[in-house]
Amino acid sequence: MGLLYLGTPLTWEDAKQYADHVRDHGITQFLNIWDRVKDKSGDELLWGDELEYMVISLDDENKNAKLSLRQTEILAKLGAIVDDINNETDSSIVVPTYHPEYGRYMLESTPGSPYTGSISDLLCVEKNMRYRRNLARKHLYPNEIPLTFTSFPRLGSPGQFTEPYYDPRDAVSSHSLFLPQEITNPHARFPTLTANIRRRRGSKVAINLPIYFDEKTPRPFVDPTIPWDRDIYPEDSGSVILCSSSAHSSSIARSEAKNGAALTDHIYLDAMGFGMGCCCLQLTFQACNVVEARRLYDALIPVGPIMLALTAASPIWRGYLADVDCRWNVIAGSVDDRTEEERGLKPLSNDRYQIPKSRYDSVDLYLSENWMNRPEYNDNPLPINEGIYDRLRDHGIDDLLSKHIAHLFIRDPLVVFSETIDQDDETSNDHFENIQSTNWQTLRFKPPPPNSNIGWRVEFRSMEVQITDYENAAFSVFIVLLSRAILYFNLNFYIPISKVDVNMARAQERAAVKSRRFFFRKNVFTNSTPLSSRSSSPITKEKKLRNCYPTPPPPENGFHASSVDDEYEEMTMNEIMNGKGEDFPGLLGLVTAYLDTLDVEPCDLAKIQSYLDLVRRRSNGSLQTAATWIRNFVRSHPQYAKDSVVTQEINYDLMIAVDEIERGVRKAADLLPEDYTGGERDGGSLTA
Ligand code: ADP
Ligand code: MG
Ligand code: MG
Ligand code: MG
Ligand code: MG
Ligand code: MG
Repeated sequence: MGLLYLGTPLTWEDAKQYADHVRDHGITQFLNIWDRVKDKSGDELLWGDELEYMVISLDDENKNAKLSLRQTEILAKLGAIVDDINNETDSSIVVPTYHPEYGRYMLESTPGSPYTGSISDLLCVEKNMRYRRNLARKHLYPNEIPLTFTSFPRLGSPGQFTEPYYDPRDAVSSHSLFLPQEITNPHARFPTLTANIRRRRGSKVAINLPIYFDEKTPRPFVDPTIPWDRDIYPEDSGSVILCSSSAHSSSIARSEAKNGAALTDHIYLDAMGFGMGCCCLQLTFQACNVVEARRLYDALIPVGPIMLALTAASPIWRGYLADVDCRWNVIAGSVDDRTEEERGLKPLSNDRYQIPKSRYDSVDLYLSENWMNRPEYNDNPLPINEGIYDRLRDHGIDDLLSKHIAHLFIRDPLVVFSETIDQDDETSNDHFENIQSTNWQTLRFKPPPPNSNIGWRVEFRSMEVQITDYENAAFSVFIVLLSRAILYFNLNFYIPISKVDVNMARAQERAAVKSRRFFFRKNVFTNSTPLSSRSSSPITKEKKLRNCYPTPPPPENGFHASSVDDEYEEMTMNEIMNGKGEDFPGLLGLVTAYLDTLDVEPCDLAKIQSYLDLVRRRSNGSLQTAATWIRNFVRSHPQYAKDSVVTQEINYDLMIAVDEIERGVRKAADLLPEDYTGGERDGGSLTA
């Protein structure tokens, strides 16, 4: 999340007058950056994770687990503590950073400074994550716990789900039937984002997730907890229309009622908080230069949905079990500011483009100019701002990067502060970031900020946060190593980007890891040397993870001979991760081959192997995803009435179980390896 300016945010009516101003100056700012850093090269691998927590307040007497709305206080306290540690201790201790997030119950933490490519840094990740959690935990009330949990099961359910209680009647920004105003971070940016998305769209956001039909779930399912007769906001009466649905068979909830409201057989969500109030795990990598950043960005695009499915962790929404396991489409819908014209529901008359996706969605364009990136792969519709495209091209920027930026810049700025309308485009990137950072895609291509020595970066954004730091470290380490394998072996993961989108939809379905197949490339190698002889070829093994591997020229005889559609097939998750036949070693096989090129101490290697083993066991089904584990916990709870309802007491027991699992107090043999010992033991200190 970007810097939080203190200032006066404009209402949508005022802000939209400045949309072209923000875009024009945003592009000027980008071009100024481009001119300075387009040839910047030789930057080493730096990388870091972002972990998001929800602070849960336990009420043991009433068996209720609620969201603690003390973000502001907690962050102030953590900020002061962090300053103390900084002042008191020597500089070898890297103190973590805590950031606000959309939900007033959320915290985000990052390592105090990015990790390098050293193997010891890789092995520090879990410890660092635990330190961050434990430091936060120390500054909570005794009945509060910091959970890395993707979606809070009873957000927006009847009864009290926040501490303190607030009535959703006061939801002036979102007009939600379910979420009070106070669920949102009170900083002006967040209520303004919420309100301006609703105003720009012309209606409340509307998300309908298919319900999970259990033995006693009523059919058709008509949600009795929706306050149909409320009459406070214009949307309350009349616009809430219960449509009978034929959409359930498509299973994944892109279904949208014509009048923007609730569907039968679905869980209806009507506010930004349902999506932006979710927690996730993100990773950012610095590349050697812009060429490598574009290459890495592309290679990680098809990996996005695979990792979403593997990290699936959000099967409960507004107190009901859903037929989906992931947050992605909920967030996409929760910030979908497109008008009816832009969504293609009405012919274009006021608006400029039909836009197929929300500003929060999967990537639409591969970016690399490398020979591997065949034009046929970019097969998604791509509305662009033509004026901006021409301006970028006239400045000498190539077609693909110009299209990428011009595609981001079809969006309007949603939050404009009156104090920062006029900026120095030589020194600021704020207008550029206004558009860039409200395009929330599976990958983000991050140009260096002005006045810094930061390089070109790529952010991997699809993963759901896991219950334990062991798992979060495991998935992080896996992606870091995969990113190196991609560069070291010059791997080719390209498939048509429309197929990546098919995978995105499948990834979110219930139990996708076990029951779905995903499109993946059959031959990921760019020459005919088998992996085994390549990986044993280095005479001296490398002592660290590196950037800056040369890209070999295209093979001489006919790399474009085959049709694009012959290059990929549908594979199971097990095949994608663990290999298929002689020719495809799987993503874990590639990572293992890359590890062989490194000089890693045996005990360190064992630790890395244990992380990879967790990923392997999730992918072959011998361990459950968090989503499956959570669903099974609910379904086997004595109070569960087999009607899809996750009661206050079930939720309370679930939150306690999750905390105990994290601390190693409770075993979860279906979720974690036998030897998992929990987060309490070695989280006490942190030396870099
Ligand atoms: P945002 O919320 O904008 O995505 P954050 O600042 O919260 O970004 O987190 C960015 C992550 O990038 C952190 O983990 C941080 O450690 C890491 N990071 C910082 N500087 C660099 C860099 N030069 N290269 C790579 N990663 C970096
Ligand atoms: Mg965040
Ligand atoms: Mg962040
Ligand atoms: Mg963020
Ligand atoms: Mg930021
Ligand atoms: Mg981020």
